[in-house]
Amino acid sequence: MTTMAAATSRIASTVDLDAPGLRHGYLKLPHSTHDSAYGWIPIPVTVAVGGSGPSVLLVAGNHGDEYEGQIALMKFVRALDVAALQGRLIALTAANFPAVMAGRRVSPIDGGNLNRAFPGNASGTPTEMIAHYIESVLLPRCQYCLDLHSGGSSLEYVPHVHARQPDDEERRAMTLKLIAAFGAPYGGLVRPLQGEPRTLSAAAERLGVIYLNAELGGGGTISHELVTMAEAGVRRALAATGVLPAHPSTPPARTMRPFSVEGTANYVYCLEDGLFEPFVRLCDDVQPGQPAGALHFPDTPWRREEIVRFESAGMVLCRRFPGWARRGDCLYQLASLVT
Ligand SMILES: [Zn+2]
Repeated sequence: MTTMAAATSRIASTVDLDAPGLRHGYLKLPHSTHDSAYGWIPIPVTVAVGGSGPSVLLVAGNHGDEYEGQIALMKFVRALDVAALQGRLIALTAANFPAVMAGRRVSPIDGGNLNRAFPGNASGTPTEMIAHYIESVLLPRCQYCLDLHSGGSSLEYVPHVHARQPDDEERRAMTLKLIAAFGAPYGGLVRPLQGEPRTLSAAAERLGVIYLNAELGGGGTISHELVTMAEAGVRRALAATGVLPAHPSTPPARTMRPFSVEGTANYVYCLEDGLFEPFVRLCDDVQPGQPAGALHFPDTPWRREEIVRFESAGMVLCRRFPGWARRGDCLYQLASLVT
């Protein structure tokens, strides 16, 4: 654990995190403003403890504009049967609550991106305080963490589940077992760019917690099909941990296509501001040098379009969603299918 995370959190839970039973309440994040001098931000939390078994942290709303996971987890929490439990579930359905209520990736209070804020800061901005609480209070209680994302407003993803490549063989086997159990159409292990240490995934790795990241659609919209997939996936992954029995109305996992994402060549970036006309679709297989799309320049309409090309082969795992693209925006991410 880092020095930062060792400081005592200033967030207080209205519910006991450890006692048996099912409780819904709030994490009270102190936030003193012009309108509310002694106020706090209410981050919803559900804790269910029963029998004996592992502890699992369920997270949605890590990014506020990624909705399928939030809805799936709300439905799951409302239907939770604590009598069937063998262990503990801690659910944050709206982890970065200010971002969730604003329908934005980042918090409107501090501009904070929760998934770039770990290990956080006990006395930092609201987003930093949430990250710190998760890393110093919640994750140390857990053996597993399921984190439900989607592409949000700026990306659209092929529905899939991924995890950082674990070094340890046992953790790697369990991670792959849970990815398969979730049952999304695609799943695999990834190496984060520059070893990114600020994500919940990195925090879980620091604490030896087995972690899955679901990516479910995107574009800032909601798909009923993907909500259903997410809820079933969570139930199947939880059954694989042993914390809950298999749910009678949840269908078995479909066959999943494995993939990997390694290195910067898997990413295509925009190098000028313009309107991006994509030439390929999600799930398309592409080759190095293949045109990825054309960039048009409304401020200089007579200028010839710039053709953007793929640098490596792979399957299109995600694409930029809005039409306008600026220098530095990610246009595509590719995955290498494992045969
Ligand atoms: Zn996300």
